[in-house]
Amino acid sequence: MNVYGAARVIRIVALAGSLLGLFGCPNPDPNPDPNPPPVSPNSGTPLSIGSTPTCVATDPEGSAVRALKLDNITKDPCQIELSQATLLGSNMDAQFLAQVNFTPIYDGAISRLKQQVGMSPTVNIRVVTDLACFEPAGGGMTGLNIVTVDGKFLDILSEYANYRALAESRIFAESTLASLGQNAAINHIVSYHQLYPCNNAPAAYYPSSLLSTTTASRATQIFDSLAGAIMYHEYGHYWAHALSDSILDQAFFSQFTPYGYINVYPAREENDADFVAGILSHKSGHDLSLSEEMIDLMAFYMYFRQGGVTDIAQVENSYLAQFVQQNPKYSSLAARKSIIQHGYSVFQ
Ligand SMILES: [Zn+2]
Repeated sequence: MNVYGAARVIRIVALAGSLLGLFGCPNPDPNPDPNPPPVSPNSGTPLSIGSTPTCVATDPEGSAVRALKLDNITKDPCQIELSQATLLGSNMDAQFLAQVNFTPIYDGAISRLKQQVGMSPTVNIRVVTDLACFEPAGGGMTGLNIVTVDGKFLDILSEYANYRALAESRIFAESTLASLGQNAAINHIVSYHQLYPCNNAPAAYYPSSLLSTTTASRATQIFDSLAGAIMYHEYGHYWAHALSDSILDQAFFSQFTPYGYINVYPAREENDADFVAGILSHKSGHDLSLSEEMIDLMAFYMYFRQGGVTDIAQVENSYLAQFVQQNPKYSSLAARKSIIQHGYSVFQ
């Protein structure tokens, strides 16, 4: 069992059957260090304060915005990577890379999304064929120097973007396919892509062959907003030195139990990644409503995959699904969308 897996087993047991990794991207949890270093909790906050001119102690959000506004962004200049994170993360990255299969299908899209947001091309972002076949996650995973996005989820977003673009077009509105409506279209798309586990599949209900040049251009625009939200979330972990934060969290905010460490503020890193995703969605000129919609689509995709939920309405129209925190690691869906919206709004 690799380090990721071992850490996850500890967490799964500790959380007694919680829905770890149900959606989003569990950042790899390091094995707890029995002798954590004597460092200040403040030095570990993702939007923390350092010595560079972009970092202001009284304005961590503003500091983050200023740092993310720069060209050629890589990692948060306000935070220093812990040596423990470098050591541990290198091993974890190597094992993860050896374990999973990647697809080149979305390489062009990844490059485009990097360019749109002024990200350094050196940031290593790759697409896993079907993440759920390797880890209990459905959006992506981020290590020390590797950022991954789930190809199966991108398949779904791509076909849904085709649907949205077609639905907006007058020609499509007159066709029988349009009579399905948006929810039915999403249900069909998500259901179809479950038929090809551990592989990628081309769009079936709304293939690119249905698109005109204009509609294809619009579909790409919609896809970028949807896929950008999850890619920028994953990159947000990388940017914010999440592995270092995870180590510091365990040193300062965790309690040891017979089952391992329980993090008493586990949603912090996910919230920060959503905040970064909101900032970058604005920086790239993406549609905020689509960035937020990605959260519901990702949740539906994973709920569907785990069984029992076959209609997006069960996610979108459910008080429980929207407003109640289902997993200590993640805020509620409504809260996550609100954080993305906040990040979007503070970027000027
Ligand atoms: Zn995440």
